[in-house]
Amino acid sequence: MNARQHAASEELAKNMHATNQYGDFFGISQETFDHVWSQLTDPDGNSVAYISMEIGADPDVYSPIRGKLQKEADLELADQTELEFIDKFLHGPQKIPNYSGGLGILAGDTLKSYADCRLPVVAISLLYRKGYFAQYVDSQLGQISQNVEWQPESTPSLYLLKDPDGSGRPLQIDIPFFNEYDHETIASAHVWMKMEVSNSLDFFVPEILLDYCLPKTPSLIRSAASQLYNAESSEIKAIQRRMLGTGILPALRALGFCPKTFHLNEQHGVVLAIQLIADELTAMLKHDRLEAATDEQILQAARIAAEHLVYTIHTPVKAGHDRFTKALYSGISQNSCHRILDILAHDDENPHSYNFTNLAMHVNRSANSVSRLHRDVTHRQFPQFAHKISAITNGVHHLTWISEARAEIFDTTPQLTNWRHNPGVFAKAGELANDQEFKKRLQLAWQHDTHALIDSVNEMLLLHRNQMTETWIDPPNYLSTLIGDNVRLQPDVFTVGFARRFSTYKRADLIFNDIEQLCRISVAHNWPINFIFAGKAHPADEPGKTVIKRIIDLQEVLYRSSNGLIKLIFIPNYDMKIAKLLVAGVHSWLNCPKRPLEASGTSGMKAAMNGVPNISIMDGWWVEGYHDGATGWKFGHEGPIDSASLSESREELLYFEDSSEFYLLLPLILQSFYDKSKENVFLDKGVKNLLLNIPIFNTHRMAAEYLQRYELALPDGQAQEMREFAELYSSDN
Ligand SMILES: *Cc1c(COP(=O)(O)O)cnc(C)c1O
Repeated sequence: MNARQHAASEELAKNMHATNQYGDFFGISQETFDHVWSQLTDPDGNSVAYISMEIGADPDVYSPIRGKLQKEADLELADQTELEFIDKFLHGPQKIPNYSGGLGILAGDTLKSYADCRLPVVAISLLYRKGYFAQYVDSQLGQISQNVEWQPESTPSLYLLKDPDGSGRPLQIDIPFFNEYDHETIASAHVWMKMEVSNSLDFFVPEILLDYCLPKTPSLIRSAASQLYNAESSEIKAIQRRMLGTGILPALRALGFCPKTFHLNEQHGVVLAIQLIADELTAMLKHDRLEAATDEQILQAARIAAEHLVYTIHTPVKAGHDRFTKALYSGISQNSCHRILDILAHDDENPHSYNFTNLAMHVNRSANSVSRLHRDVTHRQFPQFAHKISAITNGVHHLTWISEARAEIFDTTPQLTNWRHNPGVFAKAGELANDQEFKKRLQLAWQHDTHALIDSVNEMLLLHRNQMTETWIDPPNYLSTLIGDNVRLQPDVFTVGFARRFSTYKRADLIFNDIEQLCRISVAHNWPINFIFAGKAHPADEPGKTVIKRIIDLQEVLYRSSNGLIKLIFIPNYDMKIAKLLVAGVHSWLNCPKRPLEASGTSGMKAAMNGVPNISIMDGWWVEGYHDGATGWKFGHEGPIDSASLSESREELLYFEDSSEFYLLLPLILQSFYDKSKENVFLDKGVKNLLLNIPIFNTHRMAAEYLQRYELALPDGQAQEMREFAELYSSDN
């Protein structure tokens, strides 16, 4: 090794390797690591703990460390420890299946922006050894769910923290639980850390993941710990919530972190509030026989605890609001906890249940909904708390979701200089709307991404076909069973994407309500269409699984009735990677929830960031992102929120009304796509999405709005930068 090489190697070691009493970490410098750690452990400091049941941040979609290694790592120069890290980052498994859908991905995107904006935040969630579930789809059986097998040990960016006692053993925290006789027992957890590293590798947000699946863990707790949203029984569900909520303070203490604010991303972790109240009561009474507290003392303690809590509510759908029967909760709690719940979590509709959304609504200093429309719905649902609920509209992490082909254009467009750091630059680049050169390049990038999507779908069809003889799974796509070139997808065909969780209110099959009419539109003008669908239904959600089966069953009839013009594809096992391929590759993104049940929706924002227009019901974020049609199309019922039904029963889902409007709209869209004289419609809407929607629906802007709730003091320069992000948009107008 010559002197220059030696210096380079030392440089790598210095800049990409950090160590402390909890372990060895890779990707950022010791200086950065120590800086973040000292901010989070400063007893006089001010930091935030972000609590979420799920976090979605797969490294195969976004990993600044891997990006840097791919460009710069010189393997010959690295020492043994670094080589192992580099090998793991470049070749290790790139999935962390700790998410089920939008809530988790929002959490991941949020934390990435917090890291980019250098905000002192630590996140806490659980580590699920069996993930959510892996989805297989069989043309006869529909959705089949399997456990995910994954190895946190070999996944880059995940670290099992060591006990700082120097023994080399994993750090273990012991969390008080209560068995069915209300006797105290202990549940132990190991502590993992995922580092959400900033784009320029100069900051990180630690995600603390509690792993309760230890050899001695009792089996009931193990079931609750190993699978996200395990709904085998309400008891397991309640234990899962408790594992998250009760684990927060012990985990933070074990690491010396001392946040002043706790942000509950949905109410799943709200058991934390009970614990904060109990701590206040103990201090107030100067003993821990909390049964002796009066109601007024409990309310007083709750007011003090509330000063530490910020709460985001994510859905108007009742199934998203945890309710547990009182009997069930007594089985895994303690008496004083009952007193607190009786006062703060009562459920008007059901006196025998505790309602955890009510608890979270009671105990916070600030609550928010995730779009303007959702704020209005939430006010209607919780009139007694309306005065403290405002809107912070969701966003997505622009660096995660903008395709490489699009990013390359932005990188070389002078008006967009610094877009990676500041997604607000698009707001000032209005002249690009008339820049033919820019539009031409955008069109080429779009075509490139469409080709990538179509190729990957065609490969999948072939793969499933070849697997037919090897597995017992019947290919989920009718087209896999046909042979010939014309049964493959073509990239110049109008391609519509739809992918999200399959829950009833999202109405994935809405546009297939009248197959004949749909086929007539296509056949009359010889307009071919590709519909590409993906998404999982919760394994216990029978209606959701039925909709998946229906999509599969419709493929053949659509194909035949349209003379092969309409191809409906289902991609199994939806994840972030498939999402990214889809949102960048399609020509339009479809969203058809029953208004007003989609609180926000984020996949449409991912499409918008790539300049892909949405075709959507006026629900959630689209009310704010539609800009009078500049960015896409709307259809469906748009009545006032005050009288809108929140029911998911079939009669109230408006299939007929909303699909009829879709059939009126579709020919106009197809004509814009296929009629050469209208060629500019898509490209114009594409550019308008970049200019109007990137500045709003990014998580940097969202971080700036949350920052105002966190009451975090930042150094002047950083505070100014966050103010600029905040000025991009006011969600609560
Ligand atoms: C973005 C995303 C979602 C959420 O999509 P919605 O439109 O909010 O329903 C769910 N799953 C995956 C894999 C995603 O990438």
